[in-house]
Amino acid sequence: MKASPSTTIIGFVNRNQQVNLGLDNPNGTDHGQSVYALRCERPLPDGTKCGHVYGANGSDIHLRLCPKCQNGKPGLPLTKSYTA
Ligand SMILES: [Zn+2]
Repeated sequence: MKASPSTTIIGFVNRNQQVNLGLDNPNGTDHGQSVYALRCERPLPDGTKCGHVYGANGSDIHLRLCPKCQNGKPGLPLTKSYTA
């Protein structure tokens, strides 16, 4: 079995500056997939951070783009609430 980066741990940041906030829902939309909450840390032109929070399948975390500011696909619904 090939080792994979720990994209599902809290605090993981992918190359698109999306931060993993942790497991949200163990019953994801893809077979066998869990939903994780991600937050966009991308700086906006006005100097603030985007801060958008959305759900993503565990297998997508490493390549996820923000649905709000990076034209990523729409986020999955989250079951918990998160502060930006
Ligand atoms: Zn964003």
